[in-house]
Amino acid sequence: MSSILVFCSVQDGRIKRSSLEAMTRARDVASGAGLGLSAVLLGSSAHDLAGEAMSYGAQHVYVVMDRVLDTHLNAPVLSALESVVREAAPRMLVAASTESVKDILGALAVRCDAAVLPDVASFALSADEVSCQRPVMAAKKLANTSSTHSLVFVSVRSGSYEAKQAPADGTVVEVAFTFDDATLRQTLKEVVTTAGDTVDLSEAQVVVAAGRGVRDENGRALVQELAEITGAAIGASRAVVETGLFPATAQIGQTGKVVSPDLYFAVGISGAVQHTAGMANSRIIVAINKDPDAPIFDIATYGLVGDCFTILPLLNAALRDAMN
Ligand SMILES: Cc1cc2nc3c(=O)[nH]c(=O)nc-3n(C[C@H](O)[C@H](O)[C@H](O)COP(=O)(O)OP(=O)(O)OC[C@H]3O[C@@H](n4cnc5c(N)ncnc54)[C@H](O)[C@@H]3O)c2cc1C
Repeated sequence: MSSILVFCSVQDGRIKRSSLEAMTRARDVASGAGLGLSAVLLGSSAHDLAGEAMSYGAQHVYVVMDRVLDTHLNAPVLSALESVVREAAPRMLVAASTESVKDILGALAVRCDAAVLPDVASFALSADEVSCQRPVMAAKKLANTSSTHSLVFVSVRSGSYEAKQAPADGTVVEVAFTFDDATLRQTLKEVVTTAGDTVDLSEAQVVVAAGRGVRDENGRALVQELAEITGAAIGASRAVVETGLFPATAQIGQTGKVVSPDLYFAVGISGAVQHTAGMANSRIIVAINKDPDAPIFDIATYGLVGDCFTILPLLNAALRDAMN
């Protein structure tokens, strides 16, 4: 039986939440179309993580165990995925829209003669067509795209679907793979994370994001305190990154990271479309802004109108009390 194959990205020894979201949707689409569901895992931990893929419904888990894949360099990942696509012969390959996937999918499509529908917010499969909706123009518009090609690759934006388990009795399939390291034009020397980055922004369940309204060290300390209490990752608007108060790696938006946490605090952020393009998929948005007409309130679940230097100390104290 043909299948939908899901590429599971791995980070810190776990399958990324965004991959599990994509897998959950792929499972529903596959079952509606009478197809099987398979997963592909790369790297030395692939075998260990196969059980997790099965707990989300994968009936076959293709594993490629070569250590070179632990570097996450594009060239070996591309070759490994090509080997798996040839062996599994899926109807579709679905992946979370990560930075690496964005780089790889086009090249993989050329090698495998596939169509690509990248960075979509939703996808469906009918008898002969894969159709998608893709946010464009800083997510102001949704473009409907489709392909009738016999093999289609889709990358799915984080937060588009909710990850839900549905265990399957799966089997592990080891795929033979050789890669000549001498052909590599890049080497990975070191993985550097920003000092103080305790939670990965793009995978975080809670994000506290600061805008220009968080204007100084005192404001930053209040934001950090809220993040520490809620176990959140810290994000920022471009305006406040440009002041130097937060690092560029914290920027969320059209030219920054895309996040989709369960809870997003927007502190002193106006809600420009270039910012909301990166966070509008958050499930609950709490906006703190002294301007009641700030556009962020149009998409906020809860709005607190007032000075963040007054509200944050009260909120932090209340949250600490509630958690004790
Ligand atoms: C091509 C392009 C790409 C861009 N990409 C991005 C991107 O990826 N990410 C991004 O964020 N931006 C991006 N921008 C910039 C974007 O257009 C906005 O300028 C930016 O998002 C504004 O950031 P901000 O909301 O922090 O600042 P502002 O728009 O200045 O808003 C500050 C807000 O804080 C409130 N405030 C002030 N003081 C307080 C206080 N004491 N308490 C509570 N509230 C207070 C104000 O009422 C205001 O609403 C991009 C722009 C361009 C042109």
